[in-house]
Parts: sequence; C-alpha cells; structure tokens
Amino acid sequence: MLIDSHCHLNYLDDPEEAIGRAREAGVTTCLCISVDEAGFSAVKSLATRHADIWATAGVHPDAAEGNLEWIEAELAYERVVAVGETGLDYLHADDASAQARQREAFALQLDLGIRHDMPVVVHTRQAEKDTLDLLQAHRGVKGVLHCFTESWSMAKEALDQGFYVSISGIVTFKNAANVRDVAAKVPADRLLIETDSPWLAPVPKRGKTNEPAYVAHTAEFLAELRQTPVETLRQGTADNFIRLFGCGV
Ligand SMILES: [Zn+2]
Repeated sequence: MLIDSHCHLNYLDDPEEAIGRAREAGVTTCLCISVDEAGFSAVKSLATRHADIWATAGVHPDAAEGNLEWIEAELAYERVVAVGETGLDYLHADDASAQARQREAFALQLDLGIRHDMPVVVHTRQAEKDTLDLLQAHRGVKGVLHCFTESWSMAKEALDQGFYVSISGIVTFKNAANVRDVAAKVPADRLLIETDSPWLAPVPKRGKTNEPAYVAHTAEFLAELRQTPVETLRQGTADNFIRLFGCGV
C-alpha cells in the first residue's frame, strides 16, 4: 500500500498517463484536491472515472472569494470524501482585507466539515496563530495540515486537537531542516504523505513536474529519517489515510 494524500492531478498535462505510472510505482490510492469552483469539475471527473482516485470539494485560500455555496452541494457526491483545500496563506496575502476573506472562507469550510462529519484538508502558511485559533473555534473538526512547513509547536497543537500532519517532498530538500525535524516527531499514527503534484517534486526528481508516482521517493526518505522499514511507513501512512478519509486501499 502507498497513498498520495494530496495531489492536483487535473493540473498535469496528461493525468491518465500519470495515473498509470502511479499504479506501476505501487500507489494504491490518490486524493485529488479541489482548489476552486472552476477546477472542480475536472477533479470530480477524475474521481468518477477511476476507483483509486478520490476527490475533495473546497476553495484554496488564494482563491477565497465569491460564492462558496457550490461546495456544500458537492459534498453529497459519493466520490467526494473531504472539504478543502482551505486554510490561511498570509505569505500570498499581506493586506488585511484579503486575510479577512481567507478567514471567512476557512471558517465556512470548517463548519461544513463539522456539519457533514467530513475531514478538512488545511493549507497553512505564515498564519500559525490565526489557523490554530480557527481550528480551536471549531471543536470536533477533524482533518489534516497538508504539506506542512510550519513550526513543531504548531504541529503539536494541531496533533493535540486530533489532527493529522502530511509531509510532502519538501522534506527531501536540502534547506528544509525544520520540516525534517517535524517529520521525525509526528506520531506514527498521525502521519500522512503526499506529493502536492504538480509542484514540489522530491529529490531525486526535484525540478521536474511532480506526479503521484513520486510519493514513493518521499516514503523512502521518510522511512530512513524515522528509522523505520519503508514497508511499515507505506502501510502506516495508508492506514492513517483510510482511518481519516474513510476510503482507499
Ligand atoms: Zn494542494
């Protein structure tokens, strides 16, 4: 088993070929992540056509504007297993009104996660306090902090609240000592792995277009970092995914 918990297959030039290569690399399940309404139909269609591809419905903080009512309607579809990706990204939004819009869209999607009893896929960048405040204001919400690059103290607070932490190929980058520090500490029963493809290809594919097959490299790196057999790492992160999202093999 090997699961890519976060990819944007619809942004690849040829998603069908990438899915074929992922299967050959032993990837058993992928979660294809929605970022906005315009891209959602492609995400939905991939998950409809492939039994090993699942979808989320939601709006990324960089696209947090306009009407978000479409999200709730799509949560009822059987191939949609989570809300998101949503969250806060202050690196790309330095004015107060853009940040306020992000908080509003994030709160709305956390609320959907609670009301529909679905996990929420959270993107967080340079907004530790506001992200944690909103998670705490939505008691009972479950989910994952994806492509985690923030501090261990933030990860710890989210873990204490029951969240999972997902590590991307960034962990293999030379300058990512803080990500390695967090990746070594996350409890084995809360760890997920992802590509976030088409971005952030792990070493030894760094600089190339990322795709779900490359999650195998991140798994190998993480197994070495955590001093655990790679099979245990692959199985453990897949088990965690299945427990959180209720789908996958
Ligand atoms: Zn993403």
